[in-house]
Amino acid sequence: MRKTRVLLDVDGVLRDWWGVARLVLNHFGKVPLDLLPNNTEEWFSRHHLEEPHKSAFIKYLFDPGLSTMIAHKMASPLPGAKQLYAYLTGNFDVTICSSQGNSFCQALTEEWLRTHMPKFKSPCIFAQKKENCIGDILIDDKPENLNAFGATGRIAIGPIYNYNMWINHNMCEATGVFDMPGIIEYLDRTFLDSPEHV
Ligand SMILES: [Mg+2]
Repeated sequence: MRKTRVLLDVDGVLRDWWGVARLVLNHFGKVPLDLLPNNTEEWFSRHHLEEPHKSAFIKYLFDPGLSTMIAHKMASPLPGAKQLYAYLTGNFDVTICSSQGNSFCQALTEEWLRTHMPKFKSPCIFAQKKENCIGDILIDDKPENLNAFGATGRIAIGPIYNYNMWINHNMCEATGVFDMPGIIEYLDRTFLDSPEHV
C-alpha cells in the first residue's frame, strides 16, 4: 500500500513570513510600521493596506528584486516547524504545496526550505487552488484553503490562529486546527495507529 500523501503549506505553517515582511516593507516601501502587522496572526486580521502601500506590498515582497530576496533570506522557521517537518517526512509522503505566484518567489522558497528544513526534498507544487492537487491530507493555515480542501472529503488540518478558528467544521468533520504538537497527535491517532498505514 502506498504511503499517505501530505500536502504541506510553507507560510504560516513552516515559515514566519510576516515577521520579516513588515521590516522589508517598512525599509524599502517606506510603509509606516504602525500600518503593518507584527506576525502572521495580525496580518490576517487586518491585511487591507490602502494605496500607495498596497502597491509597495507587491513590489517589495513579491516582484523579482533585492527586497524580495532579502525577505526570503531573513524569514525564520515558526516555532515547532522543524519538528513537524521531521515528523512528517519520517512517516508520510510529503510534498510542499505553496501558493507562491511567480517563479522568482518559488525559487527563493525552495532555497529557504533547503536551508531550514533538514532532508527537504524537491520538487514542490506551487498552486493557488490546493483542493485541485493530488494528496490525502492538506496542512495549511489559510481558512479558505482548509475549507475548500475539506469540502472534497479529504483531511484538511493546520496550526491554529485567530484568523482560522472559524473554519467550517461542518464542511468535513476531518477539518480542524490545532497547536503544533496537536497536529502530530492528530496524525498519530488517525493514521499511524491504523493497521492500514505503512
Ligand atoms: Mg499559508
